[in-house]
Amino acid sequence: KPKIIGLTGGIGSGKSTIAGYFAALDIPVYIADDEAKKILFMPHVVKELIAIFGNDILTEGIPDKAKIAALVFNNPEQLAKLNSIIHPKVAEHFKDWVLQNSGKLFVIKETAILFESGSYKDCDFIILVTAPTDVRIQRVMNRDGVTREKVLQRIENQWNDQKTIPLSNFVINNIDLESAKEQVVDINNLLKNVINKG
Ligand code: ATP
Repeated sequence: KPKIIGLTGGIGSGKSTIAGYFAALDIPVYIADDEAKKILFMPHVVKELIAIFGNDILTEGIPDKAKIAALVFNNPEQLAKLNSIIHPKVAEHFKDWVLQNSGKLFVIKETAILFESGSYKDCDFIILVTAPTDVRIQRVMNRDGVTREKVLQRIENQWNDQKTIPLSNFVINNIDLESAKEQVVDINNLLKNVINKG
């Protein structure tokens, strides 16, 4: 069974970018957010969602991500309900995916909520991607065309680096891409060595 490596970081830290570098090194990467979105649109899941949240989450009969996001944003009770439907299904799907990669030494699970969801406890190693807050804010403003306030709001809803660094095995400082790529190569080699020595 491959070792599970959790890959996370605050909004705009660059975890998707880093995940791409690992994938380029032939490491299987599970993008939890993408899988969660796919699950959200499965007919039996849509039925469950409508039963709980009503037809307001639909646009022309199809679940509307923006409407769902608006419904749960800053509403812990609604968010907990949504998570209780989606999280177990993603966890199940991830387990199957790991089995499909049984020949590999390790696999990576990329998720923004590794710590918040508690799933970091199921990882053998954790990689945290960091960057200065002002840099992250600027990146997200550029990428998503959102306001500084909006980004700050999201940052406040996540565990901060002070809390997550001590729980992580590797910290990637993602300021410039060239150095980030080198850190990925180093960590990949370290992981291979450590796991092989097992
Ligand atoms: P989110 O949590 O919002 O999904 P993320 O942590 O996955 O964000 P990315 O999407 O990888 O972050 O990066 C955010 C933006 O910053 C992207 O537009 C990406 O291209 C850019 N970016 C990432 N790393 C760097 C870097 N080292 N230098 C410049 N731009 C970067």
